[in-house]
Amino acid sequence: TVRTRVAPSPTGDPHVGTAYIALFNLAFARKHGGKFILRIEDTDQSRSTPESEKAILDSMRWLGLEWDEGPDVGGEYGPYRQSERKDDYAQYAEQLIEKGHAFRCYRTSEELNELRDGIADLGRALKPSDLKLSEEEVAKRIANGDDFVVRMNVPEEGICVVDDMLRGVIELDWKMVDAQILLKSDGMPTYHLANVVDDHLMKISHVIRGEEWINSAPKHKLLYEFFGWDMPALCHMPLLRNADKSKLSKRKNPTSILFYQRMGYMPEALLNYLGRMGWSMPDESEKFTRQAMFDNFDITRVSLGGPIFDTEKLSWLNGLWLRELDSETFAQKFADWGLDKERLLPLIPHIQPRVETFADVVGLAGHFLGGMTVLTEASFVHKNLEQEQQVEILQFALWQLEAIRHWDRDEIQKRMFALAKDMEIKPKDFLNPLFIAIAGTNETISVLDTMALLGPDMSRARLRHAIN
Ligand code: ATP
Ligand code: GLU
Repeated sequence: TVRTRVAPSPTGDPHVGTAYIALFNLAFARKHGGKFILRIEDTDQSRSTPESEKAILDSMRWLGLEWDEGPDVGGEYGPYRQSERKDDYAQYAEQLIEKGHAFRCYRTSEELNELRDGIADLGRALKPSDLKLSEEEVAKRIANGDDFVVRMNVPEEGICVVDDMLRGVIELDWKMVDAQILLKSDGMPTYHLANVVDDHLMKISHVIRGEEWINSAPKHKLLYEFFGWDMPALCHMPLLRNADKSKLSKRKNPTSILFYQRMGYMPEALLNYLGRMGWSMPDESEKFTRQAMFDNFDITRVSLGGPIFDTEKLSWLNGLWLRELDSETFAQKFADWGLDKERLLPLIPHIQPRVETFADVVGLAGHFLGGMTVLTEASFVHKNLEQEQQVEILQFALWQLEAIRHWDRDEIQKRMFALAKDMEIKPKDFLNPLFIAIAGTNETISVLDTMALLGPDMSRARLRHAIN
């Protein structure tokens, strides 16, 4: 039976790429009467957060990407969160060591740097033969209680052949495959070990994932062989692209599903658009429902040219969806979107002290609901700052904001004030172009609070919009 899965790492905002991969996994499972599983890959404990996991689950559900088994709904092969399965992985790593397929590596980070420098010009990866120490040296380090990692015994050379459902046979050179770490010194597994063990234990039949993982396929194939397990079929999907064909990245495009939600796209339309990324209906129709996609799904119709995720095209499609709603439904959906209490509540403490009537809320909060700020030349006329200087502020601010990992007000404030100081501009003057770009006016709530509430993708998108 067909069992597919999506396996996001909860390390940030929910990515449209995750939804895209999930959609194709779900479509494949539904088409073949199989099951679709959601697994949380949170073995990188320094980067994974429960907030991110919740945001991923919530936004996948918002899009209608329902899963049959997962951390919140359970299932026969749980737990579905890797942090809750960690005892298993060490035992599998141990098994590989016993069979001679893996080894404990006691190399220090200084030694590793040196080894890497040594092979830098050779055009090959770091191999077991580079890493292994003499028996005496190993005994010494064990006696010392030194840290170790567990690494895979990969072949030094030769060709690895993997089969891909879209690409056919792919040949990869073992020379380029490193002696992959399987278990870190803290006992946590790496992606490769946990992913293979779980796909096996969860009886995954087809692994449909982004093409960024093709180079990992030899390691995975070898792990299946080491364990003596059947390998699932592999299907590497083309990645979503920016207009310039580079990999969709938050520096050029909003990538968070939360952004598209906040912009007021219908989930049905976003899903429809993702379904058109590298795939088309047999009749080439542009607007189709989830069910129609599932009924007509054929994974071999995925084309490998990188699909461009174009927000203008998405908006056009969303417009088609909106115009088909009757007035009653439109009104209801709009109210659910804009007047949703969950969404309004965080704004109230900023707005309540400044209004005399509810009507005043509209002027103060309009920019929380709207999309891109409407700007003209006149918007940026300022008594102390030239126009060019303001563009400079916006560009530097944008770079600072792009670097933030945990989006919160303190972090935004710290970076903005440090930048103002570096640029030798008074904080009040410095903030003015930000006010204009984000809110269209400086007569409103603190722009730092506003950015914190709008989230990273919307804030950055408005700055980019203002710069261009
Ligand atoms: P960064 O912007 O920091 O480079 P990223 O955009 O690659 O990060 P990740 O957090 O690494 O984002 O990825 C989140 C998920 O989205 C992963 O499952 C990844 O496979 C998927 N993903 C990222 N970019 C794309 C893309 N262009 N197309 C399809 N899926 C993607
Ligand atoms: N955790 C990986 C990711 O974030 C999963 C990759 C895979 O599907 O094997 O994309």
